[in-house]
Amino acid sequence: MKPKVSRAVYPGSFDPVTYGHLDIVARALRIFDEIIVAVAHNEEKHPVFTVPERVEMLKEATREMAGVTVDDFDGLAVAYVRQKKAHVLIRGLRAVSDFEYEFQMALTNRQFDKEVETLFMMPSQEYSFLSSKLIKEAAALRGDVSSFVPPFVAKLLTQKLVRS
Ligand code: ADP
Repeated sequence: MKPKVSRAVYPGSFDPVTYGHLDIVARALRIFDEIIVAVAHNEEKHPVFTVPERVEMLKEATREMAGVTVDDFDGLAVAYVRQKKAHVLIRGLRAVSDFEYEFQMALTNRQFDKEVETLFMMPSQEYSFLSSKLIKEAAALRGDVSSFVPPFVAKLLTQKLVRS
């Protein structure tokens, strides 16, 4: 019999992808055969990068990670998980700040679909205070973000955010 392939979806804004996100993807690959990193269309957050730009950045950043695909989705994350024939939604959990919001969201998602489980994963300590928001703020002030994002992302951040 063919072995069953396990698949999980990692949804988020990824505006832009950071080493924290990539750390979570790498950890999730130790549990699942396939990870679908899915960029949410969420204009309320006023993203700096468009959805296609974020998808391209994620593809480049995960190019050497076998088992990762990148996609984008509209609407409820749980509905997207089902559409992809998966049952697990991965979220990263950083220092205390994420807990309340993530807890609420996981329980709300469970109301929407009881068959989808949210799995929280903790990044390496060095990334547990890292956020895309902070990186954007630092890059706009010409701060060096090279230890937080891949070099090509740092370059794109400078192009977008630093006025010459
Ligand atoms: P969202 O708008 O969905 O929160 P983000 O791109 O900010 O999108 O985050 C996507 C997921 O990745 C969330 O579960 C978030 O907690 C997690 N995450 C973000 N930054 C990090 C990090 N530095 N380490 C671990 N997880 C992270």
